[in-house]
Amino acid sequence: MITFNVTILGSSSAIPTPARFTTSQVVNLNERLYMVDCGEAAQIQLRRFGIKFGRINHIFISHLHGDHIFGLPGLISSLTMGGKKGELNIYAHAELRSLMSGLMNLINDSEDFKLIYHTLNKRRHSFLLEDEKIRVESFPLKHRIPCNGFIFREQPQELHLRGNKIEELNISISDRLAIKKGMDYILPDGTVIPNKDLTLPPLKPRSFAYCTDTAIHEKIIPYIEGVDLLYHEATFGDNLKDLAKLTGHSTARQAAILASKANAGKLIIGHFSTRYKDVSELVNEAREVFPNTHAINDGEKIDVRDSH
Ligand SMILES: [Zn+2]
Repeated sequence: MITFNVTILGSSSAIPTPARFTTSQVVNLNERLYMVDCGEAAQIQLRRFGIKFGRINHIFISHLHGDHIFGLPGLISSLTMGGKKGELNIYAHAELRSLMSGLMNLINDSEDFKLIYHTLNKRRHSFLLEDEKIRVESFPLKHRIPCNGFIFREQPQELHLRGNKIEELNISISDRLAIKKGMDYILPDGTVIPNKDLTLPPLKPRSFAYCTDTAIHEKIIPYIEGVDLLYHEATFGDNLKDLAKLTGHSTARQAAILASKANAGKLIIGHFSTRYKDVSELVNEAREVFPNTHAINDGEKIDVRDSH
């Protein structure tokens, strides 16, 4: 099966701790890497977990709070020094460009390496990127400053060939490719073998949604409905619901309510307040509402859909 997983580089909110660095994740779809947020230690974590950061060509920034962007200048500096060529696409709110411009004077620029900024729509759902393997969309969340969530969708796969039938009929490679795309097969005597006798339906395309930082915001449900893997922040426990509301964050229970209403396959929670040395109380709270909940840790790699 095509690789589709998420590696957690940082799972703390606001301030790094020895166990948890600030927010950053890397999505791997078909060995192409997409970074989401870039907290302070992101490049150190990439090295620690053996991810080649020269392979990252797209970075998605949810919002412009420091704990989600302070890793960017260092990462870009290292990429430049490492001789990266081509384009690095950064999807963020428009203000990031001016925030970065002063710092970019400190970084040796190279003719062969360009930063391309793409502006996120703060108010509406929008499409950011699409190729033959992936589609990335964004939608507004509910935080103290404009903040966007993202959804990474695998493109529909081709039909699967029924191996025994294909061999029995000794079908050529070029005809196999056509059959995978839905064509019928015609025998030399003119008999038509319908496509459905030669193929099995492809697996349902997988999807991963990334929702941080945000208060619980049910308006996003239509955009993430049926998602296989939902990352939703759970900064606080439900006893701090008022503080969550005040600061534009969610509790673990609220993350679980959203996962349940959105009919997600699995919920992963993170962006934990540094007050929680042990996050099991947050997990237990979420599991009361949505049993398939998991608390993320730095360095973890999570498949977008469980293989069983
Ligand atoms: Zn924030």
